[in-house]
Amino acid sequence: MSFAIQHSTLRDLYDKVVAGERLSDADALRLLESKDINAVGAIADFARQRKVGNRASYILNRYINYSNYCILSCQFCSFARKKRDADGFELSIEQMVQKAREALALGITELHIVGGLHPSLPFSYYVDFLQALKALDPRLQLKCFTAIEILHLAWLGKRSVEQTLVELKAAGLESLTGGGAEIFRKEVRTQIARGKESAEEYLDVHRIWHRLGGRSTCTMLFGHVETLADRVHHLSLLRALQDETRGFTGFVPLPYQPENNGIPVSTPPTGFDQLRTIAVSRLYLDNFDHVTAYWVGMGLKLAQVALSYGADDLHGTILEEHIFHMAGAKSPQLQTEAEMVKAIREAGRVPVQRNTFYEAVKEWPIQAPDGEVSASRAKSKVLKVNLATA
Ligand code: SF4
Repeated sequence: MSFAIQHSTLRDLYDKVVAGERLSDADALRLLESKDINAVGAIADFARQRKVGNRASYILNRYINYSNYCILSCQFCSFARKKRDADGFELSIEQMVQKAREALALGITELHIVGGLHPSLPFSYYVDFLQALKALDPRLQLKCFTAIEILHLAWLGKRSVEQTLVELKAAGLESLTGGGAEIFRKEVRTQIARGKESAEEYLDVHRIWHRLGGRSTCTMLFGHVETLADRVHHLSLLRALQDETRGFTGFVPLPYQPENNGIPVSTPPTGFDQLRTIAVSRLYLDNFDHVTAYWVGMGLKLAQVALSYGADDLHGTILEEHIFHMAGAKSPQLQTEAEMVKAIREAGRVPVQRNTFYEAVKEWPIQAPDGEVSASRAKSKVLKVNLATA
């Protein structure tokens, strides 16, 4: 037991975790309110080590936003545009294929594709782009759409949610993304995402997808107008669905970014708040294997620290991020594999390249052999040059 825990008022919660007892909502709230960040982190680190051992993962992926036109206007959103806006865009299927082809040449294994709720693109556009992308390489994993996009496509295609998911799966969809969960409490949702699907609808889309044999991640957008109790309520609904379906592969807490939107919160959550939230996610979500430190929102330096506060995953290379950057994220738009491997090694973990389902693709030695880092840096340089000319 670490010194931090031995002398902490949270010692009883450590004992509970060691005994394999599930934390209550009150326990989670106590941890979120605690200023004893070292003890919170040490307990979460114990739980992380017991769950996944000494490995920490990342994925080689590319984000593609097919369009930022959206019929909704969620107050927190800095990404959506209307047709009248000069900086609105929509990609043709050929443009998406081109982006995917370039990224495949760089070794990606996953495309992560989301967009706004487009007012007029037909259902066939979505089926066609899944098929076209899958045809590039059957090993390429397609992680696409948030729950609200699925509801939109069901409405657009005049199909049930289940039928929509069945058809998208047949076209190549392999995982839903976890975006759009925000904060489930209705009062908060009204303040930050009026018009968006309810918590029940979000959870239902994932429930149906899991029953079809699909897998997905889930998220929580934190650090805006919600209370700490709202965060616990949010986590409790995710934990309950995971008990029911076991269909979530991982949880991705998303720190709120405050620029260019209508929410009256001017700063992102502090470093302590982000680390505590990751730690509590690891401890409370005892039925989840993986918790991600999302470097786009946290910055790679804090995400690296989070590997000692319960996180076991750094997400991916991404290559072209819009949603967080339009909201003021100061991180770079892409991360190289070499930088993530280095960050994981320095945190004392074994770097593992994973696929969409968190299965190992490649495991690196924990120490960099002579010459390896320079080789990786050379590859990173090529990657940057390719993107600059894309
Ligand atoms: S968060 Fe999604 S649904 Fe809401 S306005 Fe932005 S793009 Fe549209």
